Amino acid sequence: MTDLRGDLVRIDRERLWDTLMELKEIGAYDDEATGLRGVRRLALTDADAEARRRCVAWMVEAGLEVRVDRIGNVYATRPGRDRSLPCVLMGSHIDTVATGGAFDGTLGVLGGIEVMRALNDAGIETLRDVEVAFFTEEEGVRFGTDMLGSAVTAGRIPLDHAHKLTDAEGKTVEEELVRIGFDGPEPELRPVPYAYIECHIEQGPILADAGVDIGIVEGVQSISWQRLTIHGEAAHAGTTPIVSRHDAGLVAASVVVELRRMCDSGDFGQLRATVGSFDIGEGQTNVIPQRAVITIDLRNPDDTLMSAAERHLAAYVAELATQHGVEVAWERMAKTAMVPFDRGIQEVLSTTADDLGLPYVRAMSGAGHDAQEIAATCPTAMVFVAGEHGGISHTPREYSDPAACGNGTDVLANAVLRLANQP
Ligand SMILES: [Zn+2]
Repeated sequence: MTDLRGDLVRIDRERLWDTLMELKEIGAYDDEATGLRGVRRLALTDADAEARRRCVAWMVEAGLEVRVDRIGNVYATRPGRDRSLPCVLMGSHIDTVATGGAFDGTLGVLGGIEVMRALNDAGIETLRDVEVAFFTEEEGVRFGTDMLGSAVTAGRIPLDHAHKLTDAEGKTVEEELVRIGFDGPEPELRPVPYAYIECHIEQGPILADAGVDIGIVEGVQSISWQRLTIHGEAAHAGTTPIVSRHDAGLVAASVVVELRRMCDSGDFGQLRATVGSFDIGEGQTNVIPQRAVITIDLRNPDDTLMSAAERHLAAYVAELATQHGVEVAWERMAKTAMVPFDRGIQEVLSTTADDLGLPYVRAMSGAGHDAQEIAATCPTAMVFVAGEHGGISHTPREYSDPAACGNGTDVLANAVLRLANQP
């Protein structure tokens, strides 16, 4: 690879920061738990629609050609010299969770737009087209499937299936796309890019602990979501002997405790397990719970150990069910295997960071990202940007400082520039 040390492009940090601060006002709310102003911009809501229009306006201002596909993914192109070559794609998402912050997803999108502006300012022409995208419903909060838009464009989820998904009020993805005017005409299966790079906040403590702003992501760990429903028997709290109970709540609680034991045991590698939803019905003080529904979120950087954890859990629950005389039903909500990122793209990122004089660490991603879907279609990698307070995210406390955001976006800009000039 040629030495481009003298040929580094720099993004405008203030301009990037201003757009981040401007976008966070769309869907802003006052968060009671933290006393901070957060962002609530669920996919395909009015707030999301407004944020989409703002991003499209910025894209058009930067002279980009904007197009929208049938799942509402938005792409903006900066043409290269040879338009017959596959493009270099940047992107992420602008939808948030209900208690979101200003950086999750938006950094990669607004950073991508800033890269385009920086290329314009420097008068740089690239060989290949460069594109920046935002993908629909990455968070999965509203319609129940995360990475929805990127999964559709990667061909993992059929468009028809995605269109029919409903929110809590029964509104479908398709209806909402039409309502907000983002049911685009472009085929959802887009032309295959030459490479994809997603810049994203880390949402964890590894970078800050290492004292660096930048992470080069080696892959995304395996994720398993299941819903477990336990059918016991309601009975009187005072008169029903302990030995003859079929307590759905007790079984659910036992699963929570066993999951923690599994994580602590080390038998399943770096397993992380979370029961984030625990429902035992009406919650009557003097009634044994009849039915319990819990969700189980498992993460593991090793697919074999993930399978082992799932098998152990299934056997444990079966045994509990027999012991307590309850019926259980499993429902698979999501499962993705470990996704390794492309070594060549990681190499471009590390060389770029070196040339910029920015220290970095290599890390696995603990969270799911659009990049894990796009990785099925083209060489893909991610740049992580450090966050404060241990990288806390999905809360208004989420914060990455202007320098870290600027550094990450500089790495993105120069890596994209190098790839876009590869014949
Ligand atoms: Zn995100």
